[in-house]
Amino acid sequence: MNAPFQTWLTGQIDTLKDQNLYKVPRILETPAGGRVVMNGKEVVNLSSNNYLGLANDPRVKQAALDAIEKWGVGAGAVRWIGGTMSVHDELEERLAKFKHTEAVLVFTGGFTANSGCIPAVLTSNDVVISDELNHASIIDGVRLSPAAYRKSEGWVYAHKDMDALETSLKKANEKGFEKKLIITDGVFSMDGDIAPLPDIVNLAEQYNAIVMVDDAHASGVLGKNGAGTASHFGLYGRVDIQLGTLSKALGVIGGYIAGPAVLKDWLINRGRPYLFSTAHPPMVAAALIEALNIMENDPTPMQRLWDNTRWWKQALADEGFDTMGSETPITPVYVGDEGTAQAMEKALFEEGVYALAIVFPTVGRGKARLRTMPSAAHTQEDLEFALAAFKRVRDRFTSAG
Ligand SMILES: *Cc1c(COP(=O)(O)O)cnc(C)c1O
Repeated sequence: MNAPFQTWLTGQIDTLKDQNLYKVPRILETPAGGRVVMNGKEVVNLSSNNYLGLANDPRVKQAALDAIEKWGVGAGAVRWIGGTMSVHDELEERLAKFKHTEAVLVFTGGFTANSGCIPAVLTSNDVVISDELNHASIIDGVRLSPAAYRKSEGWVYAHKDMDALETSLKKANEKGFEKKLIITDGVFSMDGDIAPLPDIVNLAEQYNAIVMVDDAHASGVLGKNGAGTASHFGLYGRVDIQLGTLSKALGVIGGYIAGPAVLKDWLINRGRPYLFSTAHPPMVAAALIEALNIMENDPTPMQRLWDNTRWWKQALADEGFDTMGSETPITPVYVGDEGTAQAMEKALFEEGVYALAIVFPTVGRGKARLRTMPSAAHTQEDLEFALAAFKRVRDRFTSAG
């Protein structure tokens, strides 16, 4: 290995360690579920996005197995070159119906859907106006575009601040940009609050802007059968671009863009991850079709998700924990100090609960938290067990000063 490069890498890692930002993944030895074996220890897992428990659902597994028998394990090519099988097509048709949009284009992940769609629809005559807490994949997608987007120029608004959004829209009109694209998470991934989409859509209509919402954490969680924030707020037809993930509540992998047929047409021709990266294995598409069947016909997983969410939030609040105004299954437990949050994560793990500490730069400095996510895969006993562990760990940390 090139010696200066090795020295540079080692130095960078040492810096991360010094700043308590170094990450080591824990290893699951069982399927994703409410209770898992992780690093050799059985824990209640509160850090999974498997909201509906579909990642290990027997019906979804069977659909994948049947698809392997029928189609094999790989698509063999990029979508437009010969990697699109009828099962990929069927998934997109099902998703478009589910989302009440003309069309859907599936990408291999939500991250790639953002980095494929955003730069494809923007030119140097355009501006992107973003919520300051938008997901990293939105930020990276925006950075790949030639449009104006910088915070220093006034194109990033304070979290959910509609006056600030309006100020940016006014300024964008004065500057005469050709297109103005407002982008927001539907459900914010670290705070668990919901974007004020009706207000955003009203402002967009008033200022002639385009609206894009990233519903990664709303897919399967909010709206009719989990159709997302546009459905939740009754805004069908008024959100131009909707991004959904197939990797979280739907339990498999993938991301998609839902919108008008002409948008799909354009992304097939100009969405670079679509053009240059191989299609999903057919079993992925088949498993996702079965996941959609369940979401549309079996209300129990979503009911369980929300029953567990309500119970967990109320129980934490009753015990005096600060859940930061979250409104969805994503339930941050506020700690503040980075070192304390990380020590509490470790102590919880020893007690048999996995709740990841989220620290700077994922959230602001001094805003560290333990992020918990109840799901349909948790039993009441799992959540009671977790609550008792949270109380013990907090008592230990407060009495230690
Ligand atoms: C997880 C997430 C993504 C990425 O989705 P994947 O399918 O995991 O690639 C995109 N946006 C938001 C807001 C997310 O939380």
